[in-house]
Amino acid sequence: MAPPVSELLVHHDAIRANAAHFAAATDGRLMAVVKADAFGHGHEGIARVVLDAGASWLGVASAEEALALRAGGIDAPILSWLNAPDADFSAAVAADLDLAVPSPAVLSAVSRAAAQLGRRARVHLHIDLGMAREGCPREGWSALCELARELQSQGAVRVVGIMGHLSCAEVAGHPQSRLERQRFVNAVLAARRRRLSPNVVHLAATAATVTGDGAGFGLHRIGAGLFGIDPSGTSTALRPALSLVTRVVGSREVAAGTGVGYGLDHVAETRTNLALLPLGYADGLPRSASGRAAVLVRGRRRPLVGRFSMDMVVVDTGGERIRPGEPVTVFGPGDAGEPTVAEWAAWAGTIEHELVTRVGARVARVHRVDASAGGSLGRTA
Ligand SMILES: *Cc1c(COP(=O)(O)O)cnc(C)c1O
Repeated sequence: MAPPVSELLVHHDAIRANAAHFAAATDGRLMAVVKADAFGHGHEGIARVVLDAGASWLGVASAEEALALRAGGIDAPILSWLNAPDADFSAAVAADLDLAVPSPAVLSAVSRAAAQLGRRARVHLHIDLGMAREGCPREGWSALCELARELQSQGAVRVVGIMGHLSCAEVAGHPQSRLERQRFVNAVLAARRRRLSPNVVHLAATAATVTGDGAGFGLHRIGAGLFGIDPSGTSTALRPALSLVTRVVGSREVAAGTGVGYGLDHVAETRTNLALLPLGYADGLPRSASGRAAVLVRGRRRPLVGRFSMDMVVVDTGGERIRPGEPVTVFGPGDAGEPTVAEWAAWAGTIEHELVTRVGARVARVHRVDASAGGSLGRTA
């Protein structure tokens, strides 16, 4: 069978090193956030890598994501924090998941499911500290704590955690972080006054952990950082963990004045060579980077020219005629001079998280469990 044309190489050694870095930085109080297929890097395999590297918990958004990890044989504690009141909490409780609850409706539903199973659900009360997203609004916190206390005494739930999330943590020392941190401390005190005694209290994600603005609580929920992304832009310890490589499918020499792609937005200034790459915005190359991005061809950066199409882009290789089949690196850790995801994010006007979670299904995933392994396209990155 012909090798796949495009591959997303997942560098386990980088993820392992990043996880070990955070495990050390948090004294082992690391919840590895592996939502959205581990930020686009893969599922149970990555969960195992981060657990082996020192994470003691896993975190995901939906209970379905957590159940998929359980089905893959992961038995570490897993917290899920984003579920509708009518989610299948029976399956979640039966699988021994930890569930974050943002409202009396969700708490009651979890408690009912646990009571029916004759079990005690493990819940984390989730407070909204200011971003008006998934936690309990502060004005509803007392009522949520009261209900938790009551349901806990009836035996169907146990409040094992309290969680909050910072809105502005990517800016070190932001005054909003100080305010939200104080709100969090107050919320924990209010819960304790109602005789709730959570064993884990958790606030910080990657940015607040790197900057220290979220220090002093029990667990750190680290997602982006595991994959070499630091939203605060201040850490130098992290390594990107993906390389996107493809192969040229066609090339041609064109005369000065030749237009390229839809709308003929780009016009060649001189005689040059163009190579066609079989990756487009359906594969995760952001169309908004048209006219700005570059790729690595034969060890040199070459510009992508013209508007990105759904299935393909065109690279201007100057005086070099590239044969079909030659490898091209779209992004990688940057060691060989290839663009990084951070550069792509800047070209597209977005953040790295969006790019790594959007590589399309046509791209084959290749897990490189150690640094020496290559993809089937060779040692291109
Ligand atoms: C995604 C997420 C995290 C992880 O954040 P990173 O910045 O990726 O480390 C932590 N907590 C919650 C509630 C999240 O949604």
